[in-house]
Amino acid sequence: MSDENTKQKVEELDWSNLGFKYRNLPYSYHEEFKDGKWQNGGLTTESTLTVSEAAEDLHYGQEVFEGLKAYRRKDGGINLFRPDMNAKRLANSAKRLLMEPYPEDKFVEAVKAVVKANQEFVPPYGTGGSLYIRPFMIGTQPVVGVAPSEEYQFHIYATPVGAYIKGLNPMPYVVSDYDRAAYGGTGQAKTAGNYASSLLPSILAKKAGFADCLYLDPREHKYVDEFGGANFYGITKDGQFVTPKSNSILPSITKKSLLEIAEQLGLNPKETQIEADQLDELSEAGAMGTAAVISPVGSLTYKGKKHVFFSETKAGPVTKKLYEALVEIQLGDRPAPKGWVQEVDVTQVK
Ligand SMILES: *Cc1c(COP(=O)(O)O)cnc(C)c1O
Repeated sequence: MSDENTKQKVEELDWSNLGFKYRNLPYSYHEEFKDGKWQNGGLTTESTLTVSEAAEDLHYGQEVFEGLKAYRRKDGGINLFRPDMNAKRLANSAKRLLMEPYPEDKFVEAVKAVVKANQEFVPPYGTGGSLYIRPFMIGTQPVVGVAPSEEYQFHIYATPVGAYIKGLNPMPYVVSDYDRAAYGGTGQAKTAGNYASSLLPSILAKKAGFADCLYLDPREHKYVDEFGGANFYGITKDGQFVTPKSNSILPSITKKSLLEIAEQLGLNPKETQIEADQLDELSEAGAMGTAAVISPVGSLTYKGKKHVFFSETKAGPVTKKLYEALVEIQLGDRPAPKGWVQEVDVTQVK
């Protein structure tokens, strides 16, 4: 199956208006697991996957994925932000779903190969854009009864994206009555099923005029858990960075990084239970994830009452500081803690 005609042409892109949508780039990465081992994978121009009608993932949801970005530096080079953490998390997600983990060192090399092959699609420095990279893995064995697949496809595509939400604009959120993941369920795995279950609550929130919804812990509906695709943080009135401790949230790499930055900024960061009834104790709040880095929470509506944090229109001072620190590290404008930034070798063009 050829999709030559639908490939994105670089000269047709408007770098400052990319939005967040799929574009079919020249190169992807593909590798298959069968007969008990990963076969030799590599770059491919094929962007369509072929699976059996009885493939495991289509019926029983054996799918895990990752999301990371490549950033253009001021000097024209290209940075990846902690891709080793994505490698580890994909392997952990795979283990939870009883899938064959993809080797972590090969993961990082595969990501670099995709970025290098599509390097002209990494948006210029200063546009706010980046190359979004989506590695994923599916169970492909034909099955009728429920059993883990013994065959897998690992695939990576990349697509240029704009700043998810331009600038640090606070958004209104609402606490959902629904859960995205069960207590003891798959909340800590980055898997399609968690997203499928978040579609309805998210659409209901949007129809009611909110940017998205926030989930509470699924066992007691008492503590803040996270958003559908981003972790939650708050800044207490006395300046402490707090973020939920829960076994049903996805361990965000942005969160992990901001915890370390908060430590350096003297914010005494803590992972702890945050009671939804105690929002008054927070002077700022935000959503953390690769897509937007930080999206400030302007207000949170809970039990019919709207709680405003710093301001509904302006990001708070601590949020701004955290955001600037992390973005500058990702772009190479500020020294990064050891191992956080990996350069993509773009010297030899293919
Ligand atoms: C991917 C994801 C996040 C954000 O993780 P990052 O590593 O920071 O991008 C947060 N919550 C959920 C549910 C996610 O799937």
